[in-house]
Amino acid sequence: MDWRYTLSVPTLDETDTAAVAECLASGWLSMGPRTQEFETRFAAMSGARHALAVTNGTAALHLAYLALGLDAFKGDEIIQPAINFVAAANMTKAIGLVPVFADIVSSTEPTIDPDDVARRITPRTRAVVAMHFGGYPARMKALLDICERHGIPLIEDACHAPLTRNHAAGGRSLGTLGAVGCFSFFSNKNMTTGEGGMVVTDDDGVAARLRNLRSHGMTTLSWDRHQGRPSTYDVVAHGMNYRMDDLRSALGITQLARLEDNNRARQHLALRYRDRIAARCGRRVRFVFAKSADLGAAHLAAIVVPEAVRDALRLALSERRIQTSLHYPPVHLFSAFAGEATEPLPISEAFARSMITLPMYASLTDAAVDEIVDEIAQAMEHLCDQGARVVA
Ligand SMILES: *Cc1c(COP(=O)(O)O)cnc(C)c1O
Repeated sequence: MDWRYTLSVPTLDETDTAAVAECLASGWLSMGPRTQEFETRFAAMSGARHALAVTNGTAALHLAYLALGLDAFKGDEIIQPAINFVAAANMTKAIGLVPVFADIVSSTEPTIDPDDVARRITPRTRAVVAMHFGGYPARMKALLDICERHGIPLIEDACHAPLTRNHAAGGRSLGTLGAVGCFSFFSNKNMTTGEGGMVVTDDDGVAARLRNLRSHGMTTLSWDRHQGRPSTYDVVAHGMNYRMDDLRSALGITQLARLEDNNRARQHLALRYRDRIAARCGRRVRFVFAKSADLGAAHLAAIVVPEAVRDALRLALSERRIQTSLHYPPVHLFSAFAGEATEPLPISEAFARSMITLPMYASLTDAAVDEIVDEIAQAMEHLCDQGARVVA
């Protein structure tokens, strides 16, 4: 498809190319010094005590569950949002637990609702997952209070929110507020290593288990042995191979160096979208998180429109070569989750039927945002003229 504006574009430049080429030329490609440097920098910038680079965000979530020992509680429950990428729920199933989906706060604040979490807690609840939708903070204080009261860990799916200061948490970064935070560097995220991820924690014991489980449950790494450290090892747990490699860590280091600037560029674009939409589209189009004081990582530009015109508006935009998407089809409605005992999630389902995600990336221009909003305004006018009956 010959898009005028795609949904996302990775920001790559010659420093990225040079860093990867240098790693190739060094002859050490698997986990080694570059991964160590990437982890040290990520930990320092996010304020986490420990950061471990992993193969992807899904591996980060899987390791988080395992390092917290959740897999010991087969058949028990992890409360999480249904408005999320499927990874957190898939990994819940992978360790033999049951995802219990809680509703979101509202269509313009589509993060997990702490009151609904509290309602769904049972003696079998072993953890809660919060996801910072679009890079905007979930209601962490209330969620942390609930988890503390019940003595269970809060895991942050912070894949949309790397290096995002949270004012409500005294400026601490999203992903470092719960027991473990998980990040993804897939190519459509705010920074990318192609595939990749990071898992962070302040807990030394959890960090040790994460490190061990990331590498087969082995007590040493090839890199340690290469450096002349112990040449034998023991296997102390049934671990995975979720190691990041140095080629991708080289890219991670250069991407990370630009992340704060890129996040600021995204915040600027989010504000522009918000203001232009308010000025041009009337009340039929609402910008998600328009009221949020915390701009977050602005990973997504999401709008909510009347359900009856949502698909027609997407089609109209695609005819104008503007790519859009849906974040997300609710997890509990996927076939693989049919049969999970799930109570209705009216707010999540209504949100999923009325939301659209618009192009958002650091190199998008102000003029492009204006153009996209103008197209939305025109299409909405047309759709609403065509059938006033369509829009109540
Ligand atoms: C991308 C993403 C994941 C999965 O990360 P991968 O690196 O693709 O495995 C999980 N949760 C959210 C919210 C994501 O956006």
